[in-house]
Amino acid sequence: MKHISKFALAGAVSLFAVAAYAQGQDFSQVQIKSTPLGNNTYMLEGQGGNMVVAVGTDAVIQVDGEFAPLHDKIKAEVDKLSGKKPIKYLINTHFHGDHTGGNGPFHRDGTTIVAHRNLALRLQHGSTNGLSGNKTAPSEGDWIPTQTYTTEGLQLMVGGQTVMVNHPATAHTDTDSYVYFPVSNVIACGDTVSLGPRYPTIDYANGGSLNGIISTVETYIRMGNDQTKYVPGHGPLASKADMQKYHDMLVAVRDAVQAEIKAGKTEDQAVAAKPLAKIGGALGANAMADENMVKMSYRSLKGAKANPA
Ligand SMILES: [Zn+2]
Repeated sequence: MKHISKFALAGAVSLFAVAAYAQGQDFSQVQIKSTPLGNNTYMLEGQGGNMVVAVGTDAVIQVDGEFAPLHDKIKAEVDKLSGKKPIKYLINTHFHGDHTGGNGPFHRDGTTIVAHRNLALRLQHGSTNGLSGNKTAPSEGDWIPTQTYTTEGLQLMVGGQTVMVNHPATAHTDTDSYVYFPVSNVIACGDTVSLGPRYPTIDYANGGSLNGIISTVETYIRMGNDQTKYVPGHGPLASKADMQKYHDMLVAVRDAVQAEIKAGKTEDQAVAAKPLAKIGGALGANAMADENMVKMSYRSLKGAKANPA
């Protein structure tokens, strides 16, 4: 692909930095912060993707585990919240390293790592970054989930806590799961939802798509009510109104990039036209984020093919 060198120089897309960024990173100052969501359910934030913990009478269900070097701090916080109950399940929302990096140490604690089957395959086989062409090596041993599901979804239970795990066919990646906690009225969205001064990453090379993200967010809006607490993969806790705003922003992105495609522009010409300047300005995203979002949206809307899992 003749574009690669230029994109490699661009280099600032968060997804694509994840693998390198886990290594050699200083986690010593990271503190794990927990926010109660009701019914003994909590949002946890450290460094990497947001986590959710549901404490049952006998055990804990956790969503995502950030990076391996943070395991001890995360576990200490969960112990504090649960009175040292074991973590029975750790559910991965998708395969990126800032969400699955902790799998190994949690697995060695005796936790069952749960994910969609595509996630296990993408970890096992390694993956390639769509924009830069950078490769992530196949993961080994206990990084790989031990309990996988396919299209039917999954219900997991510990004493007094039930969660529903479901898979959108294509959204942020093709490895995504979202997790619904019916009693606490919480939805853990993974990186299908990224809030704050940023766009979501459309990891089209690993099965993600802009239209898939939009329809998945529509599902979240349908599932929720005014009391629902939405935990994004990155950014602050959100309400249904926030999700509607996020949805409308994504539709505006799609319309803007689709208009460039309809006008017959090449990807470079679409980028040069800066069709997301106003949307990015409202988000507080920088020019590089706008540019990368145009590229990812353009390729997704043009039907870029995913690498095989
Ligand atoms: Zn991600």
